[in-house]
Amino acid sequence: MRRIRRAKILATLGPASHEETMIEELAKAGADVFRINMSHASHEVLHQTVKRIRAVEARLKHPIGILADLQGPKLRVWKFAEGSVNLVAGQSFTLDSEENDQGNAQRVYLPHPEIIESVSVGDRLLLDDGKLQLKATKVGNGAIETEVIYGGKLSDKKGVSLPDTLLPTGALTEKDHADLLEALKAEVDWVALSFVQRPEDIIDVRKIVQGRAGVMAKIEKPQAIERLEEIVKLSDAIMVARGDLGVELPLEQVPGLQKRMIRMCRRFGKPVIVATQMLESMITAPVPTRAEVSDVSIAVFEGADAVMLSAESASGQYPVEAVSTMAKVAVAVESDANYNNIIRAAQTEPEATAADAISAATRQVAETLDLAAIVTYTASGSTGIRAARERPNKPIIALSPNLRTIRRLSVVWGIHCVQTEDAVSLEDMVDRACVIAYQEGFARPGDRIAITAGVPLGTPGATNMLRIAFVRQDGAGSS
Ligand code: PGA
Ligand code: MN
Repeated sequence: MRRIRRAKILATLGPASHEETMIEELAKAGADVFRINMSHASHEVLHQTVKRIRAVEARLKHPIGILADLQGPKLRVWKFAEGSVNLVAGQSFTLDSEENDQGNAQRVYLPHPEIIESVSVGDRLLLDDGKLQLKATKVGNGAIETEVIYGGKLSDKKGVSLPDTLLPTGALTEKDHADLLEALKAEVDWVALSFVQRPEDIIDVRKIVQGRAGVMAKIEKPQAIERLEEIVKLSDAIMVARGDLGVELPLEQVPGLQKRMIRMCRRFGKPVIVATQMLESMITAPVPTRAEVSDVSIAVFEGADAVMLSAESASGQYPVEAVSTMAKVAVAVESDANYNNIIRAAQTEPEATAADAISAATRQVAETLDLAAIVTYTASGSTGIRAARERPNKPIIALSPNLRTIRRLSVVWGIHCVQTEDAVSLEDMVDRACVIAYQEGFARPGDRIAITAGVPLGTPGATNMLRIAFVRQDGAGSS
């Protein structure tokens, strides 16, 4: 299965899409990675879903990535005696530590006692995705007293965001920790951390993960924006989590931050995923709005590695249409007359490493000689990612003996992955690259390809070779 697009598609699975037949339809329509949202999935559902995705992967003979998205410290108010209350601007309202279901228009239980003391007078509290706003007027004795700035209806278990407060929680709650261990047991390829605040959050999680999955940081807190560069460097990938980001920061800042994050990730060679409300109206309609098509296009024009669907594919009425719409938009953008120039304009210099120097040279050679493809041998995946960092306008085929590497690279821009054993000699390496480029439909006899590798093969991070080879009549190579 060969995709003609470079940007990848992540589709969240949920009640509308967790059956195996639907997973297969979504993969065929263009989903490269499936996201399992641990805010909703039980451990049983996690294992069952992973099993179904792997069955589809085997049937389609095409690697599929799996991302387990951990809920993170999402704060919620407890319950009201009447199910909801109406708060009016100017009134006072208290969030306290009194454990009961009897919230009323004056108070409600906040089941996160550790949070209360870290709030300062003047901090904002945003409720229900920012629809209501409170300001802390007094903190102490296990309670936050507030003044209502924007009122409205507040019902049971609505979310609470504290954009002005550095929360004393690590990246993982107890639930996240248990979910993470289960996800690793299920052999997912990526784990995403929600509400990352500090670089240390990533370090802590890496200690647990120990390389068994890629670690993706969701950027959705102002505190993470303040330390963005450190967080990007420590993470294996970044998600521009526009949903919560748009609650915690003024909405109009999100597009600029999205651009900044994509550019920074491209500079450091970290995969970056743009998420949330990309095709929101397709939850209930088979076609998107013009604004949504434009939104997906902007992410693709910027060279984001992937675009993501949330409710559109998890619980919407048109999951397959949502995936195929994203695929169509990406293909159209990538064949637009301005695409290459726009991508090139945001390009940064290679870092001073052999892998980057060779990747840059390879792009140059492939474009100058109009080669059919760039084939890169990559054990850990890092050479593949560095090749993609160059955003060459020729296909990249990543070859690895390691199935985990192959699957993990499914989020990365422009990479077509194939699992193959390591070559035994230089000749075998050239032949194997040519045969695979030919078999996978990227090169015809007479075409030339570029091959990069670290010789001897299997030494991670030692890319030191660039070779040009002819694809022969039998698909094998000569150089
Ligand atoms: P969520 O993360 O869907 O898990 O909240 C994405 C976002 O906040 O945009
Ligand atoms: Mn979020």
